[in-house]
Amino acid sequence: MVKEQLREVQKNIEQACIRAGRKPEEVTLIAVSKTKPVPMLEEAYEGGARDFGENKVQEIVAKKPQLPEDIRWHMIGHLQRNKVHQVVGKAVLIHSVDSLRLAEQIETEAAKKDTDVDILLEVNVAREESKYGFFLEEVEDAIMTIKDFPHVHIKGLMTIAPFVENPEENREVFKKLYEFAVDIGKKNIDNVTMAVLSMGMTGDYEVAIEEGATMVRVGTGIFGAR
Ligand SMILES: *Cc1c(COP(=O)(O)O)cnc(C)c1O
Repeated sequence: MVKEQLREVQKNIEQACIRAGRKPEEVTLIAVSKTKPVPMLEEAYEGGARDFGENKVQEIVAKKPQLPEDIRWHMIGHLQRNKVHQVVGKAVLIHSVDSLRLAEQIETEAAKKDTDVDILLEVNVAREESKYGFFLEEVEDAIMTIKDFPHVHIKGLMTIAPFVENPEENREVFKKLYEFAVDIGKKNIDNVTMAVLSMGMTGDYEVAIEEGATMVRVGTGIFGAR
């Protein structure tokens, strides 16, 4: 079941890439396995998934030792500062950096462990009250501070688009984030790249790919409803 659905999502990604004139290798599928039991993750692994996304630190901590070591774990959920020490060194990328204070905490923990941490800044493009993340106009100031952190490296941006019936409604959101990332990228800021655009979920990942996503985070479409 999981394997078939994973295959379906992979196929849809390839087709979206073809439509957009992009190479499928440019897009990484993150299998969002939050709340799902280890055997389902094993099935996705057998189907070829190597990037898994979790929104709780405890779930990464619990699942990681039970699964193959070549899995790349992505922290995609709101991260509390007091949990940062548990995820540094475990997650390959923290997508959900939504405040300067959180970035500072990550720097502190990374320095303590003498390691480097790759992050994305989460952007609340549609300015939804219920969502975390920087507003677009706040992102550049945040970047100009975080760029000087020696152990933290900004690799791009992430957004969670609004929940909509028709994914076309989110096209503008994705377009806006893409254009913003291009503008920042042109500034060639030290210690900052805009190589990663993490956007698109089960309902809208194909539109996100057409608008430039390099990582899509798909849960329900692979593992079923939560
Ligand atoms: C749960 C979650 C997803 C996946 O959502 P689906 O609609 O199930 O694909 C993606 N991104 C984040 C940040 C999530 O919390």
